[in-house]
Amino acid sequence: MTDHPATTDTNTGTIVVIGSINVDLVVRVASLPRPGETVLGGRFASVPGGKGANQAVAAARAGGHTTFVARVGDDSMGRAAIDAFRAEGIKTDFISITPHCPTGVALILVDAAGENSIAVAGGANDRLSREDIERARPAIAAADVVLLQLEIPLEAVAHAVEIARAAGRRVILNPAPARPLPATLLAGIDILTPNETEATALAADGPAGEASAADIEGIARTLLDLGPRAVVVTLGAAGALVATGQGLAQVPAFPVEPRDTVAAGDVFNGSLAVMLAEGHDLVAATRFAAAAAAISVTREGAQASAPHRSEIEAFLTARLRPEAEGA
Ligand code: ADP
Repeated sequence: MTDHPATTDTNTGTIVVIGSINVDLVVRVASLPRPGETVLGGRFASVPGGKGANQAVAAARAGGHTTFVARVGDDSMGRAAIDAFRAEGIKTDFISITPHCPTGVALILVDAAGENSIAVAGGANDRLSREDIERARPAIAAADVVLLQLEIPLEAVAHAVEIARAAGRRVILNPAPARPLPATLLAGIDILTPNETEATALAADGPAGEASAADIEGIARTLLDLGPRAVVVTLGAAGALVATGQGLAQVPAFPVEPRDTVAAGDVFNGSLAVMLAEGHDLVAATRFAAAAAAISVTREGAQASAPHRSEIEAFLTARLRPEAEGA
């Protein structure tokens, strides 16, 4: 098992990320307004977000040749988002501009205690169609790994899984935000990567119901029975649980001083995809993803917090295997 991947120019994998692009409009206030109330004195920031976009940026920075399939609106926010992806080295050929439609927006209010209140308008994300996926077929069918989430129509997700399966490509589904999923879709997934909340919700939706889902290991086994080849449940500061037909493996988190855990899961998924695309085994890939996510929680922001490959490798060298320095 390779558990400390080395950087070479030859080990780059190709990742196709299919998912959402949002602009997060964040206002920090002393207290959240009640209905009808106006709260003054806020601080505003506009930050790029959307799970698809966050994961695409994380994958590109972790060293993957990344293509992003998505939709933005016909507005300045959408065009700026595409420029930003290009600057990250992401291929944007399959990001479409949607006429007469706004870019996805999340309106986020955060109070002094960090409590938040969020309203999302999916905008162009809700228009990502089967036809859009069909246009990206050559890229999907040639990818080492296809990485999906659930902030776009399920029909688009299902069609992408179908194309990837038919071409023998590996599929990671990060089932976020959680929603009930058809059995045929789950059966087409190689690696399902819920967080604890999503895992619990999905297991409760399954045919076995809540009875078998008493603990996280039971939940992981229940999800595995739904059809994916592997399940990686992310557990925040408690790390991740990897479940396959061969059994369960705990991958601990790297202890860090957290500053902002926003998008930890997105960084985890983007980095996991890169390692799997490079041919590393699932446990080694999970350890690398945990390192990338640990770095990201020490930094503010979503996409801004995603680390570059060299940073992840330096972190792993320092934290994991001092003896590997001579290897
Ligand atoms: P999500 O952001 O989707 O809720 P998690 O909170 O489970 O996902 O975090 C994803 C991964 O990020 C975890 O499996 C872990 O490896 C890493 N992580 C999250 N929070 C921390 C933390 N406080 N310290 C170290 N690693 C963390």
